[in-house]
Amino acid sequence: MQELLERKKGLHRTVLIVDDELIEREMLGAMLSDQYAVVYAENGAVALDIIRRERFTLSLILLDLHMPEIDGYSLLKIIRSDSELCRIPVIVLTSEKDAEVESFQLGAADFISKPYNVPDVIRARVQRSIELAEDRVIINRTERDVLTGLFNKEFFFEYAKRLDEQNNNMPMDAIVLDINRFHIINELYGRTYGDMLLKKLGSCIHELVSKTGGLACRSNSNCFGIYIPHIEDLKGQLPQYISMIEKNLGDSRISFRMGVYSDDGDCLDMEQRFERAGLVCRKIENNYTTCFEFYNADLHIKELHSERLINDMDIALSEKQFRVFYQPKYSIRDNKPVFTSFEALVRWFHPEYGLVSPDDFITLFEENGLIRQLDRYVWNETAAQIKQWKDEFGFSIPVSVNVSRVDAFNPQLVEVLNEIISNNGIDSEDLLLEITESAYADNAQQIINTVVMLRENGFKIEMDDFGSGYSSLNMLCSLPIDALKLDMKFVRNICSNQKDYRLVGIMTDIARLLEVPVIVEGVETEGQLELLKKLGCDIIQGYYLSKPLPPDEVTELIRKTLKEHEGCLQQTNSGNTEQM
Ligand code: C2E
Ligand code: CA
Repeated sequence: MQELLERKKGLHRTVLIVDDELIEREMLGAMLSDQYAVVYAENGAVALDIIRRERFTLSLILLDLHMPEIDGYSLLKIIRSDSELCRIPVIVLTSEKDAEVESFQLGAADFISKPYNVPDVIRARVQRSIELAEDRVIINRTERDVLTGLFNKEFFFEYAKRLDEQNNNMPMDAIVLDINRFHIINELYGRTYGDMLLKKLGSCIHELVSKTGGLACRSNSNCFGIYIPHIEDLKGQLPQYISMIEKNLGDSRISFRMGVYSDDGDCLDMEQRFERAGLVCRKIENNYTTCFEFYNADLHIKELHSERLINDMDIALSEKQFRVFYQPKYSIRDNKPVFTSFEALVRWFHPEYGLVSPDDFITLFEENGLIRQLDRYVWNETAAQIKQWKDEFGFSIPVSVNVSRVDAFNPQLVEVLNEIISNNGIDSEDLLLEITESAYADNAQQIINTVVMLRENGFKIEMDDFGSGYSSLNMLCSLPIDALKLDMKFVRNICSNQKDYRLVGIMTDIARLLEVPVIVEGVETEGQLELLKKLGCDIIQGYYLSKPLPPDEVTELIRKTLKEHEGCLQQTNSGNTEQM
């Protein structure tokens, strides 16, 4: 064995000659030993041993086909199917013409006919095979992702375009696959575990594209691109692919989602198709009921609309296209509802689209951070309005503003709000702050710190959409809040559904436990109002008593109410706000 591994010092490339005939081995070795370190094996088993051990240093294998133990065909198959060995080129040594085709089919790089008549030709073929394989390795390194072995994004697009050209632009599906909450997996279980998952996912995807005849890439840390021939029933088949991948990953905590752009002949370029698939994939990011979605024309129109709204926001702010409406909140502790405060709700009067509802742009602006600018604008307008009413009526009417989850994580929030109230000459308790419950779930400690600071500065906090954000009872008890505002879905059916009625009762009890008032929004009927009174709710808001109104109508309403109740409002608000 030792003599088999004899090498000539100073030579870089090592060639393994595998042949059971000593003479043949020696002859070939003699032709090559000037240029290469030559290693010999007298049968397939010995060769496999050497190949595995020397897998990083071998530059070429010269392989006889007929040998004892493991024959040349079997050895070739083993080498080609092993991801670490398959980079080593194999030249088949044969005297049979028929064997050549089969050898090529099994992945041989070249063949050399026996007997070895022309040494120069043999040396040239050896050198060419080695050079080709080395070039391939260099190309592979740049075009492939090291971790998964899939293409990098740039090469992927190039090859995908080439695939289209070679196949006469046959219909293809572009798929973007993303792992849900991958950063959390990395944080909780470590990077090594994360890498292992990516590797596994990479090989599942590789298997998928090998079967369907497509291409795949890892486009960024946990995002993959897949390009496969169009499947008519892809919708029907995706669940099978997904469960196959989930089974292979073998970790029930891991889930992923796919966005699909099916080629519909609209001749988009490759990047655009994957952008669209990526867009759908992002759309379902927090959707726990769907793990794949197809791009469609409606989505495209919606997307263009969203894009337009984003582009128009700056000019809308400068032209004051955003206007603040105010919806009264009524205390129902007494017989007759008495309004105690308002909620400021923004409206966009777009020059082309007309009135645009906040539902169409708030989430959109939250996604890209623009909401901070808009909210600041709304808070300023509201503060100015509070001051105007204060000057006209001689007392403060508190107004609550919505504080988006994005604002809630802004370290400058307290400063911004203090500046607004001082610029407008109002007090912190005049501007109530509604923070949605789900923001607490995003990052409880950070939001608690912010809320504590806000309260230290005199602001009052209402927890908005209560009941929809999965707060634990335990967490609720330690939350610094001044009112609970129930999500309006709970009130919708309280008249017809006993369970909903009891649920509102339970939430009212929670508010009692926390010693804060309970506010119910979305009250649309007298029946709902009566039941809420019975349950002991403190404040209601909803279309039954008033829709959100423009400022001039609110001013009218206040005047009218003042006249009717002859100062009742002043008394209610003498402590500034009745609800808190
Ligand atoms: P929200 O804070 O839960 O506000 C209540 C929403 O319910 C408002 O919708 C209001 O018009 C509507 N509403 C009031 N009474 C009733 C009722 O009886 N029945 C029904 N079905 N709806 C009622 P709007 O004004 O379209 O606002 C939607 C959401 O947009 C708000 O939900 C809030 O989350 C957000 N939003 C509105 N203005 C702003 C803002 O200035 N800043 C931020 N960050 N978000 C805002
Ligand atoms: Ca609100």
